[in-house]
Amino acid sequence: MAKILIVGAGIGGMSAGARLAKLGHQVTVYEKSDQSGGKCRTEWFGNYAFDTGPSLLTLPAVYRDLFLKTGKRIEHVLKLEPVDPAFNYNFSDGKKLVFPNLSNPNTYLEIEKIFGNEASKSWQELIKRAERMWDVSREQFVESELRSFWPLLKNRNLIGQIREISPFTSLRAISNKLQLDPHLKMIVDRYATYTGSDPRTAPAVLLTIAFIESTFGAWHIKGGIGQLSVAIQNRCEELGVKFEFNTGVDEISIERDKVNGIILEDGRFIESNIVVTNADAEIVYNKLVSKNVKSANFERRKLSKATKSLAGFSLLLGLDNSKGKSPQLNHHNVFFPENYDNEFEEIFTKKIPVTDPTIYICAPNDENMVKGDNKEAWFVLVNAPRHEPGFGWDWSRSGPEYAKKIVSKLDQLGLNVSARLDLVKFRTPADLESYANAPGGSIYGTSSNSARSAFLRARNRSKTKGLFCVGGSTHPGGGLPLVGISAEIVSKLIGKA
Ligand SMILES: Cc1cc2nc3c(=O)[nH]c(=O)nc-3n(C[C@H](O)[C@H](O)[C@H](O)COP(=O)(O)OP(=O)(O)OC[C@H]3O[C@@H](n4cnc5c(N)ncnc54)[C@H](O)[C@@H]3O)c2cc1C
Repeated sequence: MAKILIVGAGIGGMSAGARLAKLGHQVTVYEKSDQSGGKCRTEWFGNYAFDTGPSLLTLPAVYRDLFLKTGKRIEHVLKLEPVDPAFNYNFSDGKKLVFPNLSNPNTYLEIEKIFGNEASKSWQELIKRAERMWDVSREQFVESELRSFWPLLKNRNLIGQIREISPFTSLRAISNKLQLDPHLKMIVDRYATYTGSDPRTAPAVLLTIAFIESTFGAWHIKGGIGQLSVAIQNRCEELGVKFEFNTGVDEISIERDKVNGIILEDGRFIESNIVVTNADAEIVYNKLVSKNVKSANFERRKLSKATKSLAGFSLLLGLDNSKGKSPQLNHHNVFFPENYDNEFEEIFTKKIPVTDPTIYICAPNDENMVKGDNKEAWFVLVNAPRHEPGFGWDWSRSGPEYAKKIVSKLDQLGLNVSARLDLVKFRTPADLESYANAPGGSIYGTSSNSARSAFLRARNRSKTKGLFCVGGSTHPGGGLPLVGISAEIVSKLIGKA
């Protein structure tokens, strides 16, 4: 049994904590904020609850596995609900496309109905290709520790696998190659944003998201996806994991390239040979680990080459339907602009708030997320540049004005928001940075904006002995499924010790 210290009570830190405690270790989690969950929270304001982080759960098998392997099945602690239809896409020319949940054949039929037989056939091709990519990449690029490119060269099917993954083809280029209908191209482009990236440069392998989403489904958790954080914290505590909240870690103490403990912001030194960090890799390597630690230089160099993930601007809207008519949205709704490229240009190149952004609205039909009749709680998210005063956009002042602009855009879309407004709050990237300790308010740590990005992410096992990294800014990447997988990789690397 080893004494293990975890820095951060996000989903990754807690998932690793539960797995490590189950292996018999003595685990303590140190969390800077006053609660667990990090970005993944359900928050109540008055009569309305909002998932202010993740609002869509894909690949639930990752969390089924976590709960099963650490005690009772997930069904004992959470109510997982498939969301049907999965997505409601709205285009600027007035066309609408609904993706049913968990049924590729029905999705093909829907596409055929709206865009014709050729469009449907090209989507079928896309899903087949995405499945082959998933088969090739799952074990070696997602579920395993990725240390370098060289071991992959020993692979017997290397040429075939490279052809399948097309590492130097962008997501946009593969859409063009598959001759997708322009509306469907926008849906594929959006998958790049699931990793905080730009479809014009992100690798084609992100097509796997289309396969995963349609095959393993879109899921909600009764009461909000943030219930996942609560349930994982409970599971940790049942296994004896200790939590210290309002306890920031100031430094990871390292001598001769070996971890020997942590120094807390209150000055305490806690000794241990194993530290798992769930804080963003940028915080870990540029702040918590001293610049004098040579074994950390490798990760620092990689981080300096990686593009950061985009950030998000969100609105939390409490709507009272006794004041006006509801447009009756589905659970997940996307409203695309006329010019989607402009969004990526403004975020990544100009680093300014998007003039005419794609608007995502999560409007859960969940009675556990509102109090009283005739009420709806909408979480509205638009992609945004990071909060980077001095280098890029400074979000500290522009929030109220941008919030007004989005509300009026919602009205223009015919969603009758202003008349029904009972509560309105907004969250800028600067807010996300301060409450979840996410540098720049990045949603996913680093982006996947190049063929090399998978190799630029922080490794799960550092070159510094005893230092492990888990969570969205580490391998295999951001989003709940990958974060859960990173926790599994780290707990396997540490093993029973
Ligand atoms: C608006 C938004 C929408 C999203 N939508 C989705 C979605 O629909 N589906 C999906 O799958 N994913 C989504 N994501 C991404 C998902 O939320 C994240 O990938 C995931 O929750 C990150 O988990 P993590 O383990 O990396 O930890 P984080 O949530 O980043 O938590 C890290 C923790 O470390 C703590 N910490 C940092 N520094 C220190 C320190 N020095 N000392 C102590 N503690 C520290 C922080 O306070 C925080 O609690 C979304 C995220 C956001 C913000």
